[in-house]
Amino acid sequence: MRKPIIFGNWKMNKTRKEAEEFVVGIEKVLNGSEKAEYGVATPFTCLEISVNNAKNLKIAAENCHFEESGAYTGEVSVPMLKDINVSHCVIGHSERRSMFNDTDESVNKKAKKLIDAGIVPIVCIGESESEYDSGLTEKVIRTQLNGSLASLNKEEVANIVIAYEPIWAIGTGKSATKEIAQNCCHIVRDEIKNMFGEDAANKVRVQYGGSVKPENIAEYMACEDIDGALIGGASLKVDSFTAIIEATR
Ligand code: PGA
Repeated sequence: MRKPIIFGNWKMNKTRKEAEEFVVGIEKVLNGSEKAEYGVATPFTCLEISVNNAKNLKIAAENCHFEESGAYTGEVSVPMLKDINVSHCVIGHSERRSMFNDTDESVNKKAKKLIDAGIVPIVCIGESESEYDSGLTEKVIRTQLNGSLASLNKEEVANIVIAYEPIWAIGTGKSATKEIAQNCCHIVRDEIKNMFGEDAANKVRVQYGGSVKPENIAEYMACEDIDGALIGGASLKVDSFTAIIEATR
């Protein structure tokens, strides 16, 4: 049985004080006996205060660099995240791929580095609107997985999280239907099976992301190949993230 995993993704939002208030607010709702794991990915500046206030909520970074240290002005390394007890890290989000030059190759290096440090990567993939319109979704999913997971082995892949996020559904309110989301998450699992075998495919957790909210999360979670969600806008307020927790308890 795969344990469901639901993460917020704050993107470039919240000061430390706002992060602290959010984490304290959500900790009042969680008691540690939930059937799903819940977490939030926060900006680097909010990570430490979030980790320090979290008991049951998992805290993720939104990105990392694949080198240990060195002349990479403005970057944050995996040992730095490890140093403050971050448990997860989102990599290859479509905003980072489109605006900050993340590629399958760099995502692959980041994934390897995170796994070696004991931090769980949440590897994002997903097609653009024009790729969707041209019928290229399946090809894009398979290609991105092949590149992003190239250097990993089957035991490592069994423990990571993959977030399938069609770019046309992110922040648009235009969420994918549950049929599309299920079909694409099934393709993800099928490609993991091709690459790493049945056991890894059965164990890897696959999230859907793109305009997930309290009103629609339950229908995604009911799908066979969807083990959770990565949630942007609806993860910013305690009330709305609480409603997501309530809908998936
Ligand atoms: P959204 O963002 O829920 O606001 O669509 C999802 C994401 O970017 O991870």
